[in-house]
Amino acid sequence: MSGKLYLCATPIGNLEDITFRVIKTLNEVDLIAAEDTRHSRKLLNHFDIKTPMTSYHEHNKIEKAKYLVEQLLAGKDIALITDAGTPAISDPGEELVKQAYDMSVQVTSLPGPCALITGLTLSGLSTGRFSFEAFLPSDKKERARILDELTDDTRTLVFYEAPHRLQKTMKELYEALGDRTITIVRELTKIHETVWRTSLTDAIVSYDKIEPKGEYVLIIEGKSIRELEIEKQSMWEEKTIPEHMKIYMDQGQEKKEAMKSVAKDRGITKRQVYQALLDAKVD
Ligand code: SAM
Repeated sequence: MSGKLYLCATPIGNLEDITFRVIKTLNEVDLIAAEDTRHSRKLLNHFDIKTPMTSYHEHNKIEKAKYLVEQLLAGKDIALITDAGTPAISDPGEELVKQAYDMSVQVTSLPGPCALITGLTLSGLSTGRFSFEAFLPSDKKERARILDELTDDTRTLVFYEAPHRLQKTMKELYEALGDRTITIVRELTKIHETVWRTSLTDAIVSYDKIEPKGEYVLIIEGKSIRELEIEKQSMWEEKTIPEHMKIYMDQGQEKKEAMKSVAKDRGITKRQVYQALLDAKVD
């Protein structure tokens, strides 16, 4: 019988944020795969855990995941821990989980600390619908594509960011999204934990004067639905019905669907849209 892969959440700062089940599992498994074994050794020593460790990180994840899955298939139980927080959230864990499933290995996740969720709960922004964007990609084109995609997103947006890229990222977010409420959470669960709910412009001005230090999560309010509606309205207000239809058809809507959207925007019936198209001789 094959073994089981345990995803074990570890503290994101405060060592007391570890669950009894994670400690028990780390003691009982045959092997612990850790993102940085030197870093994790401190955690294991603190809890007097003597289970052997092996490294599993961004640069060996494909090959090492193969090896770990072989071990699992041979009956070994393995725990995955990363530098901090929940494995597979913005770290190499995702690859191992995928390969484990590909080989029908059982996986379970032991819940615990996660900077995304801890930050979101402290944000004071809407938590009902949110989009976790992790780190924005470093590739310029890809970064621009994602920022463009987020412009009209009405969900709360959550980003991870390193201190040396904080200002650059906030400036780009301002350019893409305009001024919005932002909650900047820093050093969660640590002695210098700070939460600052402000505007993007205020944050940018302040961080021009102080050097960002520590680990950050940025939580930004989504675009207001009202603002989106006003923008949408001004987009078609000066257009004729055929031009208005073209906007939706260019977005990939079928003619029938586009007629429905146009009718809804203009507060008229589909029949009136149809008639206007006939009058303009558009089929
Ligand atoms: N798997 C982790 C989790 O569950 O949150 C995230 C790993 S990701 C490589 C590291 C990023 O998470 C950091 O750059 C920072 O943005 C965020 N992070 C981790 N610990 C944090 C903390 N104590 N306070 C604020 N942000 C933190």
